[in-house]
Amino acid sequence: MDHFLYRDGALYAEDVPLTDIAAAVGTPFYVYSTATLLRHFQLFDEALEGTDHLVCYAMKAASNQAILRTLAQAGAGMDVVSMGEYLRAKAAGVPGEKIVFSGVGKTAEEIRVALEGGVRQFNVESEPEMEAINTVALSLGKVAPITIRVNPDVDAKTHAKIATGKSENKFGIPIARASAVYAHAAALPGLQVVGIDVHIGSQLTDLAPFEAAYQKVADLTERLRAEGHDIRRLDLGGGLGIPYTRSNEAPPLPLDYGALIKRTLGHLGCEIEIEPGRLIAGNAGLMVSRVIYVKSGEGRDFLILDGAMNDLIRPAMYDAHHDIVPVIEPEPGVEPQPYDIVGPVCETGDTFAKGRLMPPLAAGDLVAFRSAGAYGAVMSSEYNTRPLIPEVLVNGDQFAVIRARPSFDEIINRDTIPVWL
Ligand SMILES: *Cc1c(COP(=O)(O)O)cnc(C)c1O
Repeated sequence: MDHFLYRDGALYAEDVPLTDIAAAVGTPFYVYSTATLLRHFQLFDEALEGTDHLVCYAMKAASNQAILRTLAQAGAGMDVVSMGEYLRAKAAGVPGEKIVFSGVGKTAEEIRVALEGGVRQFNVESEPEMEAINTVALSLGKVAPITIRVNPDVDAKTHAKIATGKSENKFGIPIARASAVYAHAAALPGLQVVGIDVHIGSQLTDLAPFEAAYQKVADLTERLRAEGHDIRRLDLGGGLGIPYTRSNEAPPLPLDYGALIKRTLGHLGCEIEIEPGRLIAGNAGLMVSRVIYVKSGEGRDFLILDGAMNDLIRPAMYDAHHDIVPVIEPEPGVEPQPYDIVGPVCETGDTFAKGRLMPPLAAGDLVAFRSAGAYGAVMSSEYNTRPLIPEVLVNGDQFAVIRARPSFDEIINRDTIPVWL
């Protein structure tokens, strides 16, 4: 469910017409809906009602501080994967005790900054990393709370680039080695083991892989407890998928996901953490772009937009589908026609959709990419010296620019010319 609906023939974000935002900030731009972000967070929070839990938003999905603060004010913690994300979460006002530090290769510097600033726990990915955290903690006279990420060797049945829970993936330690690794952790005085972490992938559209993984975590909890470890917290990762098309997909609901967690793990009396990213932000954001030209090609027409692969890379990177809709609602009965929808970058990969049925469009018309809130703005670049596009947050009938478009001077002046030139 989202708050991007047509009203009187034009697409709105909550109570703001997208045409007003386009007039104010220019195109292309990202726009997020506060009500949708909060609704998605609350769905998870409610799904875990009755269990001690914390929903830690995986901020890599959309990391603007205005989004973080919106969610943090509603009670969310954060899952961070780099020092930049950690500092950004702190800047947005998230207290250290609500920040979980994940990520495959935490450096000594990252570990130090998080230990000094406060951290809920590190999710450890390997034994060398565990030793690094121990060393840094001891050098600061601190004890670092940790979980260890186990790789349950389950197939998440998602796109290969975002599956993380098979034994051949780089993530976590093999579950078969867990006893040895936990024993190693327990022997390091700078660490305090508080639980287990698992995250098997992203955009999962079936609960079965979660169930398989969580059952393994339940068994492991009992085994590790029997071996004397204080397993009191289970971090179950993120990964619940979202519908990218309005028509055919119906991924599991957070409520059913929550019920699965309670069924598989509820008897253990652990505090539960989850780290959803995509489901909170994905359908809470659009990318709005303008048609620059309509070009007739051999047997096809191209819509050439002012947005490109550098602004939204998911189609080029993951063959992802985004619904693309006109901002001005077509008259009923208008015959749609197929378009190849492309950006202006000089790469064939800069194609958003092929043969997409759209109402007839003309130069100057606005289109909106749905489901662009997660892994959209955060993965954008300035390839082709195209400025990062602005981000806008809507709240009821208000909107604010939460990241401005940089000027060309700002971009160009970032380079420095060596003295010998
Ligand atoms: C990416 C990631 C998430 C979030 O995944 P979504 O599919 O966006 O919910 C959560 N935890 C970890 C460790 C991740 O790497």
